Amino acid sequence: MENKFLVVIEQRNGVIKKSSIEAAYKAKQVSASFNYNVEAVVVGANVDDFSVLGKVGIENVTFIKNTELDNYSSSAYTKLLTEYVNTKGFEYIFISNSSFGKDLAPRLSAKLNCGLVMDCISLSIESDTIIATRPIFAGKLLMQQKLTSKIKIYNLRPNVFGMVECPEVAVSVTAIDASDLNLSSKTVEVKKAGGKLDVAEADIIVSGGRGLKAAESFNLIENLAAELGAAVGASRAVVDAGWRPHGEQVGQTGKTVSPNLYFAVGISGAIQHIAGMRSSKYIVAINKDKDAPIFQIADYGIVADAFEILPALTAEIKKIKQ
Ligand code: FAD
Repeated sequence: MENKFLVVIEQRNGVIKKSSIEAAYKAKQVSASFNYNVEAVVVGANVDDFSVLGKVGIENVTFIKNTELDNYSSSAYTKLLTEYVNTKGFEYIFISNSSFGKDLAPRLSAKLNCGLVMDCISLSIESDTIIATRPIFAGKLLMQQKLTSKIKIYNLRPNVFGMVECPEVAVSVTAIDASDLNLSSKTVEVKKAGGKLDVAEADIIVSGGRGLKAAESFNLIENLAAELGAAVGASRAVVDAGWRPHGEQVGQTGKTVSPNLYFAVGISGAIQHIAGMRSSKYIVAINKDKDAPIFQIADYGIVADAFEILPALTAEIKKIKQ
């Protein structure tokens, strides 16, 4: 079978990201319908373990290695991957819609002069063509797109497509030495804010809004998040007020999240907030206004004062865990 499908894998500090494994899994599924193989490509200085890709059926991995690339570099990654795609003749490229993929996919599309669908939430196949669905107008509408260029790039929203364990295959890694690359700039260090769990990657998120009244009340959100092993999220209102850092903002101008469980506490459910979290698997809304729009998309709704329900919920979860 020909290798027409390529999945671009993100690694950070040598560890392959879960969102990329999910993109690889989806690429594998779609490629099977076309009777093509999928190859994975990783750029970087070092990768600890490629076998995680074998768990989603990826047998061939190309590792483009440059010891200077221990952090992501837009220009270097774009150059190396453009050359690689052109040399090998891939036609379908999959990349996760993480911050990495959001930056890289449009650059590759420009350099390869090809079509791109950002933030796909579904891919189907009709008459040998991929139909990609993506939300537009802050999720009010879903648009279906068909790419007609020879090379096509699909940027996939994380945590939407899911993964099912398949029989593990052995991964064969081909290394390409890219040490002669002339880097015009180098990312020296990427610092994670506070070392906390990133909302874009978390399985459970507890988000707070203006209903919390003050920055100090977020300790109630943090306590519940700590019990659940969850990340803390926030609405834009509280980020604008300076109560929480922008990295925690969920929504149209923040991060798009799709955890298994999303708590929206004291958040009204404005369309711009919903745009960033509506694809969460289960949504629990806590709001003292029974008519708050957030209840329209919630799977479970609690009409209550956050200041009473949060400590009670945290204590109950602690008890269950014991
Ligand atoms: P509010 O709308 O003020 O809601 C507070 C809620 O708390 C209310 O429903 C109230 O009933 C409830 N409440 C009050 N007291 C309690 C209590 N004691 N217990 C329980 N509940 C209580 N917003 C985002 O979140 N993310 C974005 O990315 C984003 N991008 C935007 C982009 C643009 C271009 C624009 C115009 C707006 C954007 N917004 C975004 C802002 C958005 O429109 C809303 O203003 C914002 O989401 C409101 O935040 P909130 O729900 O925390 O506050």
